[in-house]
Amino acid sequence: MAYPKTRMRRLRASAGLRGLVRETGLRAEQLVLPLFVAEADAPPALQGELALPALQRLSISGAVERAREAAEMGLGGVIVFGVPAHKDAEGSGAYDEEGIVALAVRALKRALPGGPLVITDVCLCEYTDHGHCGVAREDGSIDNDATLELLARTAVTHARAGADMLAPSDMMDGRVGALRSELDAEGYIETPVLAYSAKFASAFYGPFRDAAGSAPAFGDRRS
Ligand SMILES: [Zn+2]
Repeated sequence: MAYPKTRMRRLRASAGLRGLVRETGLRAEQLVLPLFVAEADAPPALQGELALPALQRLSISGAVERAREAAEMGLGGVIVFGVPAHKDAEGSGAYDEEGIVALAVRALKRALPGGPLVITDVCLCEYTDHGHCGVAREDGSIDNDATLELLARTAVTHARAGADMLAPSDMMDGRVGALRSELDAEGYIETPVLAYSAKFASAFYGPFRDAAGSAPAFGDRRS
């Protein structure tokens, strides 16, 4: 049926009608608050103004307080990013059982056992001294498959610390499958994987890099 019999404005005429037929809604429980948790001796954030000033670095206890506020506001979850004090070529801080994310997750789950979902950012770029999300070869290219092993290790480390969901942000081919296999092998069959790596050619991820303080070493190509 076409206009004039069909008039789409009819179903938009009142709040009651709109509430009944609305397909898309946005609720606090669908939102996730990023928490940038830094080791005490981590180097300072990049100089200059942050694109999103609310993205401050937090200590572990500061992150717990922020997560408590998030829970009180009814937010669905928090996602933990780690800012390590030391970086190396293999990004070993990412999969360190005593690394900043593992420590923060344990503290969050201990303080807020029924609290918001604790999601973790799974990547290497905050922990590599070259700033790439993967293992860099001598020629500057990235070894995709060697990176998958380290990402999977990182995910298992976070799951073991108590993370409710793992969120890889690298752009390696096969990363979700690699995480899934390793998590299942380690008994974390019920732990979901949330890839949020659709950041290709997007500026939305830029402000996060400001807060994390990871600067690209080879131009702007990060993965
Ligand atoms: Zn990354």
